[in-house]
Amino acid sequence: MIDGIRLTKAPIRWGMVGGGRGSQIGYVHRSAALRDGYFSLLAGAFDLDPDRGRAFGADLGLDPGRCYPDWQAMFAAEAARADGIRCVTIATPNNTHYPITRAALLAGLHVICEKPLTFTTSEALDLQAIAADRGLVVGVAYGYSGHQMIEEAARLVADGTLGEIRIVNLQFAHGFHSAAVEHDNPAARWRVDPAFAGPSYVLGDLATHPLYVAQVICPNLRIRRLLCTRQSFVASRAPLEDNATVLMEYEGGAVGTCWTSAVNAGAMHSQKVRIVGSKGSVEWWDEHPNQLRLEIQGEPARVLDRGMAYLHPQSLADDRIGAGHPEGLFDAWANLHCRFALAIEAHEDKDPARLAGLRYPGIEAGVEGVRWVEHCVRSADGGGVWVDYA
Ligand code: NAD
Repeated sequence: MIDGIRLTKAPIRWGMVGGGRGSQIGYVHRSAALRDGYFSLLAGAFDLDPDRGRAFGADLGLDPGRCYPDWQAMFAAEAARADGIRCVTIATPNNTHYPITRAALLAGLHVICEKPLTFTTSEALDLQAIAADRGLVVGVAYGYSGHQMIEEAARLVADGTLGEIRIVNLQFAHGFHSAAVEHDNPAARWRVDPAFAGPSYVLGDLATHPLYVAQVICPNLRIRRLLCTRQSFVASRAPLEDNATVLMEYEGGAVGTCWTSAVNAGAMHSQKVRIVGSKGSVEWWDEHPNQLRLEIQGEPARVLDRGMAYLHPQSLADDRIGAGHPEGLFDAWANLHCRFALAIEAHEDKDPARLAGLRYPGIEAGVEGVRWVEHCVRSADGGGVWVDYA
């Protein structure tokens, strides 16, 4: 990875829906997808405002004829071209993910979609069935999972260093929305409106990130039941929560907690994942993503650093700059897009053997995030009761 050599045969012809000028996440997608030449940006319906979207695409250097007023026009026109796009990224507010992803799959496109994938599990399962039927990849933008030290934590669990996993402690609790910032901030406004955000705010917007990271680290844990309470400390956000606490019980006896919040006043991201086993624990914090804390009972605590020779080879495979120099979220997202591209090529070549050992947040991860949010909301709105996981 350190040399940036592309591992696929050719760049994937790629388009974007959303992620237009001033959007929060559009540039991160472009930066990650284009970094190592895995994708080639050729088309876009970047903005709800067609003129602004077209102008933005032109500023990015796209052929103006391939800067479309909306995604419907883009999918139709691109399908008619011999050199049309093969993959589309959907970086729009949550309410549009299901219809746009569905239409993209039906147009024969691979999809990289933002989270949460859909509003309901049945919608997510519908997308899963269409993708499976057509042999298409749906990648979900759980970007933090591309950090090298997440891979290292997964290896430490897999090789038994931590012993039997007992406790999963998750947190994503920032303070940026401690007050009603949505009055002046359009990107915050849609997040607290159920018509655009779906059945939850912080559970879907924030907590699904550490949830997926924990699934990568502990792939064998299955939730048995959970209990959630949620609050709207800024009252105008009700029924959507700006704070929630979740208790989880897993098959086999492990337990978990998740605190997610947008009103953790004074905090930056505060996304932390701590996995406790019978022999030791690991802890990862997204504000210091190059480090992983490893604590073995009875031994001094260690801080493992990215890029060091003592890491597992699979973790080092993602390294981009060598130890000491900090890497960040852009690098993690680029690692993810490398895997999305490898998965797309393996699907197109009908070569499932190349998918063996390739870990990326696919449609199953998208379905699982939606299912988890749905159960949390059901528990919280039922009065904070245990609900069995199904
Ligand atoms: P935003 O409001 O900042 O930007 C949304 C963009 O989509 C704008 O450019 C808007 O014009 C465009 N858009 C809206 N509807 C459209 C449509 N129908 N067709 C074309 N363009 C359309 O939102 P954001 O913060 O960038 O969030 C977008 C998505 O990304 C959300 O689902 C959010 O949950 C997700 N997100 C994920 C991460 C992550 O870490 N994976 C981080 C931030 C946001």
